Amino acid sequence: MPQNPEIMLQLESFIFNPFSENTYVVYDENSKECVIIDPGCGNSAEENQLFGFIDSHRLKPLLIINTHGHLDHILGNGTVKQRYGIPVAAHPDVAADFDRSKQQSVFFGMPFRSECGLPDRNLKDGEIIKIGESTLEVICTPGHAEGSISLYAEMEGWVFTGDALFSRSIGRTDFPGGSYATLRESIKTRLFRLPDDTTVFSGHGESTTIFDEKRYNMFL
Ligand SMILES: [Zn+2]
Ligand SMILES: [Zn+2]
Repeated sequence: MPQNPEIMLQLESFIFNPFSENTYVVYDENSKECVIIDPGCGNSAEENQLFGFIDSHRLKPLLIINTHGHLDHILGNGTVKQRYGIPVAAHPDVAADFDRSKQQSVFFGMPFRSECGLPDRNLKDGEIIKIGESTLEVICTPGHAEGSISLYAEMEGWVFTGDALFSRSIGRTDFPGGSYATLRESIKTRLFRLPDDTTVFSGHGESTTIFDEKRYNMFL
């Protein structure tokens, strides 16, 4: 494990689209490598915010990672992919939601500004994604949507949970492919095994910790 704390990952978050979705840029200051988690940017102002940050920090985007396939989390996939020429990575089970999102985008009046297609790279449970000297581990956390994953940065003590776990709440389970029992199991057996002081960065709302959710989350 690297000794120098300066090589730990940095994080920038944005709130995008009418669903107030959290988009995260996770980057390494030394190598300048970054990944974009759930790019939800849906208009040119939001794109400029995201691209402005990435470009002004001279970051080198490696990958777009989707925690799941709901519209609010994949809306900017196409534009980010087009701008940086990078692949979209997600669990293969997101395919049906990617498909549904196309119709939903019309229904919600949130058109995709660039065609996004299906993910280019399939992620599986336990897979390690390298960013500079740091890593993100893929943890499958289904229940809110098919193919939902969380991303765990062990060295930094961060976990990105998408819409599985929120501060004092959990994801909806009434969408196609959703299951309360499965989601509860995911959170209890996959996320609550992480250290208590792990910071939880969710797909919506404020960050929290594993400790606080074990203690105060009334939905579990
Ligand atoms: Zn969702
Ligand atoms: Zn969402």
